[in-house]
Amino acid sequence: MRILLIGPQGSGKGTQAKLVAERHKIPNISTGDIFRDASALRTDLGMKAEAYMKKGHLVPDEIVTSLVKERVRQKDCRDGFVLDGFPRNISQAKALDKITNLDKVFVLKLSDDLAIKRLSQRRQCKKCKSVYGGIIATRKKGICDKCHGKLYQREDDKPAAIRKRLSIYHKETEPLVDYYKKKGIVHLINANQPVEKIAAEISRHLYHEADMLEL
Ligand code: AMP
Repeated sequence: MRILLIGPQGSGKGTQAKLVAERHKIPNISTGDIFRDASALRTDLGMKAEAYMKKGHLVPDEIVTSLVKERVRQKDCRDGFVLDGFPRNISQAKALDKITNLDKVFVLKLSDDLAIKRLSQRRQCKKCKSVYGGIIATRKKGICDKCHGKLYQREDDKPAAIRKRLSIYHKETEPLVDYYKKKGIVHLINANQPVEKIAAEISRHLYHEADMLEL
């Protein structure tokens, strides 16, 4: 299964991508996480990406496309993968079409007001990348429940960058919904529900598909 998750920042897309990947034992490819890791390690890629990310801008298409191209060709992606954060615009989607075909696209729908509220409360673990929303308090303030790493607020989760990112989402990423609808592989999901409910809805679609393949 080659799966793509699309949704505005704050829709829980990253959390769902990780859950789907774990359940189906396929890699989760999050371009945002790859860039953040590279930036923490001060690699060439990381330094290049960082300048764009901090302002809430998109990293240039050539950089992200060649990164994904290399990643999906690796051995562990043979049985599928979950893409989170790529493609982000039509030109990246066309580039992806030349590399591979997607089987399912899940679109997480959420209003801007809710997205802004959620994002401004979001914290991420520096070490294991777990994400905590405002309502999910950790046992110890500012410390990850899973690995005891330090939680931080991403630079691009600060108010000015959030607004910029949401406007880019509507302008550049949302047109992907129609692009993939034409291919008949889109499922729209209400993201204003608890994490488990969204995960169950996505699983239902995926298992239904798997059953059909076995018949
Ligand atoms: P995310 O965690 O998916 O919100 O990504 C964080 C940041 O990484 C974005 O705001 C962009 O600066 C950059 N980024 C991630 N994926 C892409 C992409 N497909 N195209 C361009 N920039 C990206």
